[in-house]
Amino acid sequence: MTATDVFIGLGSNQADPSAQLAGAVARLAALSETELVAQSPFYRSKPVGPQDQPDFVNGAAWLRTELSALELLDQLQAIEQAHGRERIQHWGPRTLDLDLLLYGNETIASERLTVPHAELANRDFVLQPLLDLEPGLALPDGRTIAQLRQQCPDNNLQKLNPVERAPFPPG
Ligand code: AMP
Repeated sequence: MTATDVFIGLGSNQADPSAQLAGAVARLAALSETELVAQSPFYRSKPVGPQDQPDFVNGAAWLRTELSALELLDQLQAIEQAHGRERIQHWGPRTLDLDLLLYGNETIASERLTVPHAELANRDFVLQPLLDLEPGLALPDGRTIAQLRQQCPDNNLQKLNPVERAPFPPG
């Protein structure tokens, strides 16, 4: 089976968000039939929706995987659960949010999965890390991430300094 290049969006605003993201990247890198190609810098962003919650930290990971899109979604949700995510409030605080942003050049519209991710084009905290990872990246419909980034409302993203990120013990 051939491997597919996929991009995962990461976000957290609880319990040391940068450590949550670093831990999630380590878990993604450890998935079976999957390799981590690169991870983006992390950014601080203002919350979407309710403002009475901490800022988010966002980033993206580039994987090469032989998992199907649904198998990968299962793994993303298992990692979210492992990070103690509780769904209390829509767009509310979350320990870890993992989104399947792009799965190769595929367009998927099923009950569990919309790919490219539905909000990708509207969020600078998604587009900027993708641009950092691969400046030439485009959607299946041909629109480039660079174009979308230019058109996207600016949410005052702040790039975080790279920190020493000790690998998170899986499990
Ligand atoms: P969220 O609040 O973003 O974590 O939404 C989770 C729900 O979105 C799950 O029930 C998924 O099945 C669904 N979903 C649809 N498309 C995607 C996608 N591209 N990545 C992650 N979850 C998705």
